[in-house]
Amino acid sequence: MEVILAKTAGFCFGVDRAVSRAAGEAEKTDGPVYTYGPLVHNEEVIRDLESKGIRAVTAEELEGLDGGTVIIRAHGIPKAEQEKLVLHGFKVVDLTCPFVKRIHRIVQEASEAGRTVVITGNKDHPEVKGIVGWCGGKAIVIADESGIPEIPQDAPVTVVSQTTFNYKKFKELVEKISERSYNKHVVNTICNATQERQTEAGAIAERADVMIVIGGRESSNTQKLFEICRSACPRTYYIQTPDDLKTLSFAPVSSVGITAGASTPNNIIQEVYSHVRGKQ
Ligand code: SF4
Repeated sequence: MEVILAKTAGFCFGVDRAVSRAAGEAEKTDGPVYTYGPLVHNEEVIRDLESKGIRAVTAEELEGLDGGTVIIRAHGIPKAEQEKLVLHGFKVVDLTCPFVKRIHRIVQEASEAGRTVVITGNKDHPEVKGIVGWCGGKAIVIADESGIPEIPQDAPVTVVSQTTFNYKKFKELVEKISERSYNKHVVNTICNATQERQTEAGAIAERADVMIVIGGRESSNTQKLFEICRSACPRTYYIQTPDDLKTLSFAPVSSVGITAGASTPNNIIQEVYSHVRGKQ
């Protein structure tokens, strides 16, 4: 049986950076260390961080705490929330992914120049909420064409995107925006990590008899990977840990593909890989 492990499975650059630096921060800090929301959507990683003394807390819980270190996760947070943490006396360690931080800088400068910021993405996603929070002026989030009429006609606009937005959709929306605004500055801020992972997963699922997608239940990028794989390979399974493999039977198949979401740690991927290879 052939077992195909996706090269892009697991932590992306931003998540890897956040998880490893958070662990390093806990080692060198004496006081309590918190993350502003879960650092990643993976229970194994959260448990591992807890064992290192790092606790995920909500903004409301932080209100009742008295000092310590607060780690900002890869998605980033609004500027005002970050400033509030400093005002409350917390030491802030900003582990916002540099690709997201770049968007914060672009929208802040655009706002200061009096431009309307248009963000293509999901307005409820934490990354998008964070980006909106760095726009000092008018910000409009659009997920599809229905949001286009909200953009003021002939106003100077700067267009950016949520890092995980679909590139084809982004291009289509930019074309529509061009019909309304002649003074536009478009910056493609989509991160290739997601696109590459999805393309590779789909290609593996096309040729595999069984496909395994590993990731936390709450991880939206893992859910998306699962949908892509299932549409190419009906026998696609969504698992969280190697334990979940016990209930699966692969026989008779000649190939099994494996991929994982951006918040799945490498040790879990390797365990699943070894386990599946051992089933032959
Ligand atoms: S998906 Fe891209 S932008 Fe998002 S955290 Fe990972 S590397 Fe950064």
